[in-house]
Amino acid sequence: MLQCTAVTLLPPDAVSRLLAPGVNGPDDPEPYVLCELGEHDGTHTDPHTEHAAYLRPGRTPDSPALWFFWAGSGPERTHRAEPAPWCPAVLRRLDSGLVRRCALFDHHSPSHSWDVTDPLGDLIAERLVSGDSPKGDPSP
Ligand SMILES: [Zn+2]
Ligand SMILES: [Zn+2]
Repeated sequence: MLQCTAVTLLPPDAVSRLLAPGVNGPDDPEPYVLCELGEHDGTHTDPHTEHAAYLRPGRTPDSPALWFFWAGSGPERTHRAEPAPWCPAVLRRLDSGLVRRCALFDHHSPSHSWDVTDPLGDLIAERLVSGDSPKGDPSP
C-alpha cells in the first residue's frame, strides 16, 4: 500500500503552537505537512476524506500525540490540530522477537504504518534497481 500523497500548508496558528516557548528550536517548523496514511478511498473524489499528519509527540511516548487533520483543499479546506491516542496495534516478528508499534493514531484507516510504503522512496529504489522499466508483477 502506497502512502497518501496529499500535502497541505499548516495554518499560522498551528505553526505557532509548534513553537513551544522556552525551546530554542534551530529552525521554524516545516509549514507543509504530508498525509501519513496509506492511500485511502475518496482522496480525489470525496472532499470530506480526512488526511492526517503527525505534528509532535505527547508528554510521554504513550501520551496522545498532536496530529493535524484536514479535508479538502484550497478555500474548501477544513482542518483541526488535536491530540490523538496511538493505534494499539503491534507487529510481532516471530523470528526476531522484534515488536513494532503502529506509528499512526487510533482508528486510522485503512492500513497500519508497516503496510504503508513511501511512494517517493519506492520510486528512488525502483530507479536504482531497474532503471525505467515498466511496472511488472511484484513477484517475491
Ligand atoms: Zn491522505
Ligand atoms: Zn495502526
